[in-house]
Amino acid sequence: MSFVFAPPPTPAVPVQGGAAAALFPVHRIYCVGRNYVEHAIEMGHSGREAPFFFMKPADAVLPVAEGTVGRMHYPTLSTSLHHELELVVAIGKGGRDIPAAQALDHVWGYAVGLDMTRRDLQAEAKKLGRPWCIGKGFDESAPIGSLRRKEDCQLDAATKIALDVNGKPRQASTLGKLIWSVPEIIEHLSKAWELAPGDLIYTGTPEGVAAVEVGDTLSARIDGVGTLQIQIVAGR
Ligand code: MN
Repeated sequence: MSFVFAPPPTPAVPVQGGAAAALFPVHRIYCVGRNYVEHAIEMGHSGREAPFFFMKPADAVLPVAEGTVGRMHYPTLSTSLHHELELVVAIGKGGRDIPAAQALDHVWGYAVGLDMTRRDLQAEAKKLGRPWCIGKGFDESAPIGSLRRKEDCQLDAATKIALDVNGKPRQASTLGKLIWSVPEIIEHLSKAWELAPGDLIYTGTPEGVAAVEVGDTLSARIDGVGTLQIQIVAGR
């Protein structure tokens, strides 16, 4: 048997400090909504609710190798492209019903990510009670920096996460402000879906989300994990 056309290439993310050609193949992209209190409040919510999830297609990743500047095309249909700075968890070992106490055994590593959002389309979908796909799951909507192995990351409650746009601070927080921790996210998520090697989890954004324009340069960093830089370029 053969495919009726050539299968598409596997979406993949470069690995920091790995063998020259090491790539992490992407299976699915899960995202956590409203996982920092101050961001939930800025979006009009109380900041106290159970975690909820949405997805982006695997080929929405925009991988950007550490030390390089990625190019993201301004998306169609929107005039309000927002940045959401997030810690990304990469799953190396799959499973279902994973208890929080064992969750970190399933983590391969971490990266800096941006959950780019067509905020105008997401707001319209919310108002009409429609799915968020068009606001969240569009092409190139998941920029991600090089992945770093878990063993090489030093993450704790004081770990700083920050985003500058054109050199000016836009988002700054610490991982201790996550409402649901990484192990708790994995526990909840693996009740709803069987996790698999290659899954990426965008863990939610702190406050300070805002619009970007063509020509803007976004510089994101998480201490002990890495950096991610992209420039917004004209749409296609
Ligand atoms: Mn987000």
